[in-house]
Amino acid sequence: MEEAGTTASSGARQHHLHFPPIHNGADYLVSVVDHLTKGDVRPRDLKYAVLHLQAAVEVLLKERLSREHWTLVFSDPGQASLRRFHEGDFESCTTKQAVQRLRSIAGCNITDDDRSALVALAADRNALQHYGLSQNTHAVEARAGRVLDFLYRFIHEELINPTIGTQDERLSYELNLVSRGVRSIDAFVKQRMRRLRGDLKGHEPRTIGCPACGQTALVLATSQPQHRCHFCEKIYHRAEIMRFNLTRDEGLLRTQCPRCQDHALIHGMRVASASTPAPVCFTCNCVIPEAGSSRANDTAGEDI
Ligand SMILES: [Zn+2]
Ligand SMILES: [Zn+2]
Repeated sequence: MEEAGTTASSGARQHHLHFPPIHNGADYLVSVVDHLTKGDVRPRDLKYAVLHLQAAVEVLLKERLSREHWTLVFSDPGQASLRRFHEGDFESCTTKQAVQRLRSIAGCNITDDDRSALVALAADRNALQHYGLSQNTHAVEARAGRVLDFLYRFIHEELINPTIGTQDERLSYELNLVSRGVRSIDAFVKQRMRRLRGDLKGHEPRTIGCPACGQTALVLATSQPQHRCHFCEKIYHRAEIMRFNLTRDEGLLRTQCPRCQDHALIHGMRVASASTPAPVCFTCNCVIPEAGSSRANDTAGEDI
């Protein structure tokens, strides 16, 4: 059940005739904002936010790809045919392929964090279609907010002339709505992080980025096998967090910990106490700023 490249139906083709891709994408984004900025975001709102956001991702990334070259929209560009492109009768690339092509061929500025958020959203969409949304709502909301923010930038940097913006009044009206939505979702995330500040205080050296919501709110507990993200409440086993970091886009380096001698030191982790990526030992559950430093010993005894 890979993220299905979509096969455009004749209905979708007609739709595209009346909705040029950027309008189409912006229209989806306005809907996402509508659903995510309600006073009370219910599961149904999240469901449509995820579905429409993923639809916007597909439309907008593929629009940029096809400006580079129409064959890049095909799942296998080697098999591309102009006839099938015009008829919309082909299997198109997945989000992951689109991101990879946009970065390596079109030279688009898509960071690793952007890519992680896009790939996670595609997974949310697939999970949603097959099992319903079982993920914690805060995690989905934070992730959706990040993708929304990315797409807003992407439209401006890659799809409309960045110096003159758009002369299209309807599009600028829609983009203004999206911009307001991005700020309001961002404000929700920041506000929740502010509320958590007290809970996280003192645990900064053991607070790392959460694979589910992306917030630096996952506190490694020293005396329990389970670790909790305070932002999205997801509980992790140590092996899950290690696997995620070792296998994510550019898998992080794993070495032996100078303190406990376990092969459990992962480098390049985002840690609340450090402004730059730092190594974390998943046996000691703490940051090791430098081999043999006393800092590691200072923080190892606390628990949450
Ligand atoms: Zn989380
Ligand atoms: Zn260690």
